[in-house]
Amino acid sequence: MEKLINAVFPPRCVFCGALGDVFCENCMSNCTLLKEQRCLVCDRPSKNGETHPYHYVLEPSQKNEETRLKDQEKQSKPHSLLPSQFISPFIYENNVRECIRKSKYSSRLFSCLKRLSFEGVNIVYEWGLSFEGFIVVPIPVSKQKEKLRGFNQADIISKIFAKRFNIPVDTSILTRIKDKHAQHSLSRNERFENIKNSFEVGKQGYGVLGKKFVLVDDICTTGATFLESSRVLFYAGALDVKCFALSKKL
Ligand SMILES: [Zn+2]
Ligand SMILES: [Zn+2]
Repeated sequence: MEKLINAVFPPRCVFCGALGDVFCENCMSNCTLLKEQRCLVCDRPSKNGETHPYHYVLEPSQKNEETRLKDQEKQSKPHSLLPSQFISPFIYENNVRECIRKSKYSSRLFSCLKRLSFEGVNIVYEWGLSFEGFIVVPIPVSKQKEKLRGFNQADIISKIFAKRFNIPVDTSILTRIKDKHAQHSLSRNERFENIKNSFEVGKQGYGVLGKKFVLVDDICTTGATFLESSRVLFYAGALDVKCFALSKKL
């Protein structure tokens, strides 16, 4: 159906106006790749965006949890409240920024975001990473905000990610209970403070214990949102958390 509509009314590129595609190849090539992946905790380069091992410290509250320690033995890696990996294909600038910004306020530009997501997810897929055994969880927005926008951008990216890697997506795992201030006007410390206690797991953590998750969002700035939502998942018994952001703000 979409093909038929496009054939009768060829779309124009949102960025340059060229006829044929909402996001033409030329404008897509203007999207800057994040060549060197970074550690989510310290923002310094790391191989495949893996969290540097020296960030792992067991929190006292975790030490009594038998299951957690057993899992740790099984996994033979340090367990903490930190995601093990953060990956992002694009730098949040130029057309990537325009696309994400514009699609936030206009569902008409939905297809633009979809195109960018396909591109980004494909790039990561070609790195040969595996997410076998993981469940994709979009970073939720509050019910209010979703109503206002009509959709959550992270949901769209999540679906595309899940399909490419052939793993399930579950939008009911995390809910946003606090969405007070927009993060972008805040300093780094304020962001961490603002995001605290913003998320909770649905149905008292049902479906989280012993499972592995990939959190998905459109932009990662300081990592505060990913770190806080990972913390919530780990407290509910998650075994591993990885993070994927379509873009990274440098
Ligand atoms: Zn164009
Ligand atoms: Zn680090």
